[in-house]
Amino acid sequence: MAEQLIISVSGLRGIVGVNLTPAIAAEYGCAFGTFLKEGAARSDVRPSVCIGRDSRPSGQMLKSATAAGLCAVGVDVVDLGLVTTPGVSIMVTELHCAGGVVITASHNPIQYNGIKLLLGNGIAPPVEQAERIRHCFSQKKFALVDATECGQVTTNDQTDARHIAKVLAIVDRKTIAAKKFKVALDSVNGAGARVTKKLLAELGCEVSAINDEPTGVFAHPPEPTAENIKSLREAVKANRTDVGFAQDPDADRLAIVDENGTYIGEEYTLALAAKYIFSKKKGRAATNLSTSRMIEDIAQEAGCQVIRTAVGEANVAGAMLKHNCIIGGEGNGGVIDLRVCPVRDSLVGIALVLQLMGQTGETISQLIGEISRYYMGKEKLPVVPAAKFQILESFRTAFPDARLDPTDGYRFVFQNGDWVHVRASNTEPVIRVIVEAKDQPTAQEYINKIIQAKAFIH
Ligand code: MG
Repeated sequence: MAEQLIISVSGLRGIVGVNLTPAIAAEYGCAFGTFLKEGAARSDVRPSVCIGRDSRPSGQMLKSATAAGLCAVGVDVVDLGLVTTPGVSIMVTELHCAGGVVITASHNPIQYNGIKLLLGNGIAPPVEQAERIRHCFSQKKFALVDATECGQVTTNDQTDARHIAKVLAIVDRKTIAAKKFKVALDSVNGAGARVTKKLLAELGCEVSAINDEPTGVFAHPPEPTAENIKSLREAVKANRTDVGFAQDPDADRLAIVDENGTYIGEEYTLALAAKYIFSKKKGRAATNLSTSRMIEDIAQEAGCQVIRTAVGEANVAGAMLKHNCIIGGEGNGGVIDLRVCPVRDSLVGIALVLQLMGQTGETISQLIGEISRYYMGKEKLPVVPAAKFQILESFRTAFPDARLDPTDGYRFVFQNGDWVHVRASNTEPVIRVIVEAKDQPTAQEYINKIIQAKAFIH
C-alpha cells in the first residue's frame, strides 16, 4: 500500500514526488494563510509568515510552493532561508509574524519532507486550530485575493544571529569558556551545523565537527539513536573530546555521547538540562507522559515539581506557558527553555549541558552517574484501525493496583515509581506501549501483561 500523506497537529508530511508535490504544498500554504487571515485581529493589516527550511534537497522547491500559496491568499512571507526549527520559532516572535512555517521532515529519511506550522506565539497549533487548518485544506476553501492584494516575499538572514544571542543570554559564557571544552558535533548534514558551530565558538569550545555540510544528503539515518551515530562516538574517542552532541536534521533534538564515546540515550538530555536549571532556581518543569521519571527524581531532590502532559510538543509548550515552567521538553532529546523559544531546541540543550559541566567540573559520565538509572521498554502493537480505541479501552483495568492517569491513553504509575503508558498513535495503526522500570526483565513483564490483555479481547 502506498504511504499516505500524513496530516497531524504539527503539520503535513509525505514522500516528495509521490504524495508531497508543489501543488499540495501550495494548497497547504493557502489553507494556513486563510486560517491566519480569519484569526487576524485587524482586517486592514496584512498578516505575515516566516518561512524556513532544513537542508533537504527538496526544501527549496517546497518552500517556494508553500510561500506561493500564502501569497495567493494575501499573506506576506519572510524567507529565512536554511535555518533550524527553533530558529523559525524565534523569528516568528521577533518579527511579530502571525505564524511560521518550517519545511522539514525532522528525523525522517531524505525521501520525506514536511510542512510544519507554528502560530504567532511560536508554538505548533493546538488540536482545535490544527483541525480548522486541516478542514480548510481538505475543503479547498481558500480566501484567494486578486492581483493587487497578493502577498509579497522578502528575505531575512538574521535567524542564526538572533538564535545565538538568545541562547548565550541563558548561560554564563565565562564559566563555559574558561573550561575550553573539546566538543564533537554531528549535525547529520542538516540545518544545525552552521549555527551550532558558531554558538560553540562563542562558548570558547574547540569543535570537531562531522557531517557539517548542510546538503541534506544525510550521512547516516538521521534519527540520533545509538546505532545511527556510531561515527560521532568514534570522533569523540579519536579526538578525546569532553562530549559529543548529535542533532537531527532540523536541530530540535539532541543526543549526547559521553567522554568515553558511550551513547547515553536521549532521555538524559532533558534530565541534564533540568539538573542545571533546578540548581539555579526553584520552579516547575513540564514534560509528556512518555518521558523518563528521571526528571521527577531531579526535581524532587531540588524541591521542584514536574507537570505531565499529553504527548506532543505543543502540549508541553502550552503547559509550560500556563504554569510558568522554567524548563521543559520531551524524552526524545528535546529541551525547551521559554527564554529562548517555546519549541525544542538542541542549541539550548547543548548550552545548558555545557553550563552544568562547567559549573560542576564533572564529566558527562559522572553527571549521569548521579541520576538513578532505569530501563525503558517500548513496543508497538499493530491494531485494526477501527478497533484501536476499543483495544486501548480494554487496557484500562490491566493494572488495578496502579494509579491511573487518563490524560492521553492510559498511564499507570505504580507505588515504586515504575510506570506503563499505552496510547493510540495519531499517525499509524498501532498502540504504543512505553514502560519504565528498575530493570529490563521487570519492564518486559509489564509489556507482556499488555500483550496478554490485547490477546484476550481478540
Ligand atoms: Mg526534529
